Amino acid sequence: MSKIQLITFDLDDTFWDIKSTIINAEINSRKWSESRIGEKIDWGTFEDFMQIRSDLVKKDPTLQYDLGKLRRRVIAHHTKKYFQNTKDFNAFINDAYEYFLKERHKVTFYKDVIKVLEKLSLTFQLGVLTNGNADVNKLGIGHLFNFSISSMDVKSNKPDKGHFLRAREVSNIDFKHTLHVGDHPLNDILGARVLGINTLWFNLEKHDWDIDQSPPQQFSKWSEFISLVEENYGS
Ligand SMILES: [Mg+2]
Repeated sequence: MSKIQLITFDLDDTFWDIKSTIINAEINSRKWSESRIGEKIDWGTFEDFMQIRSDLVKKDPTLQYDLGKLRRRVIAHHTKKYFQNTKDFNAFINDAYEYFLKERHKVTFYKDVIKVLEKLSLTFQLGVLTNGNADVNKLGIGHLFNFSISSMDVKSNKPDKGHFLRAREVSNIDFKHTLHVGDHPLNDILGARVLGINTLWFNLEKHDWDIDQSPPQQFSKWSEFISLVEENYGS
């Protein structure tokens, strides 16, 4: 029997590029808001956007792991002045958020990701551990996973151990029989490694490992993944 029984995956920047996804979602959502309100909205600069987010999180730390609520608050910040009554305003915020979420799920999977997941799902339990708000069920790949854990579910972000502990709990599979795969050196690789979970680093841009003297096993193409698992963890 293979040593690995459960493989958990990060989503953003592991299965698809997140920056282009979010930029497109942001642009389309702004257009949508302006057309619904019927006015040009002053969205400010990117720095303003980041400042507003960080001010909101300072006021309400739960927004760190509740990206939906954070997104709603940011939309509200820019659009409140256009609404006289609360009911209309709340309805707008709900619709604007739903629109953003739909746009946010328009991802382009990296080559071979789906094929690899389909094959792995025949042998291993598969799980999702994400700090973001992508939902595999909205991407047509939910059936390939046994479970999916978001920051909202565990009220914390990786590299905190919340996601990893929950994965062990729902799968009933020990850390030593678990492999975690992700792009982020700290959130994914170090977060999993300190708990004794096996790791594979998805390193698309072939960055150096500058966290410590023990670089993890890594890959930059999904087509390499299955043979890498077999070489490292095969029976
Ligand atoms: Mg990631």
